[in-house]
Order: sequence, then C-alpha cells, then structure tokens
Amino acid sequence: MTKDLYSVLGVEENASQDELKKAYRKLAKKYHPDANPGDKAAEEKFKEVSEAYEILGNPEKRAKYDQVRKAGGGFAWNSMDGGDGVFDDGGLADILRSMFGGGAGFEFSGFGSSRRSSPMVEVKVPFRTAAAGGVVRANLRLPVTCPACMGSGGSGRRKCDACGGSGRMQQGQMVMMCPVCKGSGSVVTDRCTRCGGSGEIFTTEQVDLRIPPGSDDGTVLRLTTPSRKTLKVRLVVEPDKFFWKEGRDIHCKVEVTAPQAVLGTKMKVKTLDGKVVLKIHPGTQPGTILRIPGKGVQYRGAKGDQLVHVEVKLPVSLTPEEKELWRKLARLSKGKK
Ligand SMILES: [Zn+2]
Ligand SMILES: [Zn+2]
Repeated sequence: MTKDLYSVLGVEENASQDELKKAYRKLAKKYHPDANPGDKAAEEKFKEVSEAYEILGNPEKRAKYDQVRKAGGGFAWNSMDGGDGVFDDGGLADILRSMFGGGAGFEFSGFGSSRRSSPMVEVKVPFRTAAAGGVVRANLRLPVTCPACMGSGGSGRRKCDACGGSGRMQQGQMVMMCPVCKGSGSVVTDRCTRCGGSGEIFTTEQVDLRIPPGSDDGTVLRLTTPSRKTLKVRLVVEPDKFFWKEGRDIHCKVEVTAPQAVLGTKMKVKTLDGKVVLKIHPGTQPGTILRIPGKGVQYRGAKGDQLVHVEVKLPVSLTPEEKELWRKLARLSKGKK
C-alpha cells in the first residue's frame, strides 16, 4: 500500500506549515490511543499521521521529501499488520529515516550502520510541572530489541538485490545509502516474523519522566531506553487556570475591589512555590502589574519573576446605603482630578 504523506494528513501538497499543523493536531487527537483504547486500526492511523507530520512538519525534511516524491521514488510505505510499529524493509519511512537519520541530513558516512531517526511520542504535562520542573509518570511505547531474533531481523543473509550488494544507490545526483539493506549490502533470507525484520518491537512501559524546569508546550526531550535506543518525547503542556508563562516570567491575574484599590490592601497570592503576601498600594490603578521577584521559572542560569496583573472589580449592584456613600463620594470628588 503506497501512502503519500500529504494524503495521510489530508492536505494539498502546497499546504502551509500552519495548515499542516492544524491537520495533524486534528487527526492526532482523533486517533490518539488514549481516545481509542484497544483499537488497533486507530493506533496504526495515529502512527501513520505522526510519522507523516514528523517529516512534513519540518520544512527541511519536507523539502527533501518533496524531492524524492517528485522523482517518483517508486518506494512503498508498507505498514505491517499487527501494529508493532515497524515498517517493512524498503518502506518509505525507512528510506526517509536513512536519508534524515537523526536530523543530520544525508548520511554519506556510516555505511553499514542502521541508524534510524527516533520515534516520537507525546506526553501530557501539567502546567506547574512543566514550569517548575518535576516528574511525570507516563506509559510509553518503547522500542526494544526483538527477543525472537535478538535484533538481527532474521536468519541467513543474501546479497541485496536493490543495490547489487554495494550498499549504496544513485538518487538523481546524489549517492545515498541503500534503504533496503541500510548500507550493509545484504539482507536476511528468513525474515523474523515477530518484528518483521526490523530487529525491534515495541512494548508499553511505565516511565517516570524528569521534566526540566521551564519546559514549554512542544518541548522535545530525548529519552534513552533501557535497550539504549533513543525516543523523542514531545511535551504537551496543559494550560493552568491561574498561571501563564512568558519566557522565564510567570503571570497571573488578581481582582481587588474598588475600596481595596483606592485604600490599599494586602493579599495572599499563589506562586509556583507557595503563597506570598502581596501589598496593593493605595491608589492602585486597574491594569497595574506588580512584580514578585524571583518567583518565575529557573531557566538557563537565570530566574524570572511573577507578574501580577491587578484588575479592579467595580460593584454591579448596590445596597441603598452603598448608593448613598457613592453619591457622597461623587459630590466630594466633583471638580477634583
Ligand atoms: Zn525479530
Ligand atoms: Zn542494498
């Protein structure tokens, strides 16, 4: 089954990066394993969509993909039945992996290595954990060495037909690593049925992820699995009801009454590490921003502040007595600026 990455995301080939992102978000949400527990088809679709976006979402990779795509490629992207998260030998994903291997561009050196770009998973992180740092427990699908073939992908080897055993291929003007044998010049004759020849399978494991302070939505962490594979984890930071973050600074909004703003007051304000007492000076204007030093996010050697936006809440309904007092105030302040 040949899959075009643009049609996987359901977008035109001239779609903007923004449109791609939107299409990806929508599909990823729809097919996310959390939303479709036990649904293998949805899981496959989710993987497909993520793989497609990993390439198209990166302008550099997208440009290279467009080149291969225009050249006709002739390669099929085969996803395996059973959903072990591996792609058939010669699959487009493998080709792209070998082309882009770890984001280093084309791999002219390192023939014979089978370096692949790491799989990407998304993990939800509460706002406060992302800002202040901490640990998030997540169930991750981790690649591990296939126990059936011990990572060899199968038994017996024969010369690779695709490259005639040289391990490299001419692609237009470029010489690239043979995507079928990944540069080794030979392929296994009896492909391992457990892993489909990739040498690795996926298992779900509970992992405690250490979230560095100052993490933003979209931050990508690299995780080394027990089998020494690299996994990329994209953080999806959940918004907070009270706080928001801009750079190193934490922002929040507080409301005071009109008399509090006029006469001044003290109030307790939440920070990322406990409450502090904040002094509202007499005559504080609506929209005033007060700074609590050092209560922001520690990031790259410096710590931000917490900025408190003061809103003044004016009374909507008044008792007769209050009304009388406001009238009196109005009379007193007549002509006064
Ligand atoms: Zn295997
Ligand atoms: Zn080959």
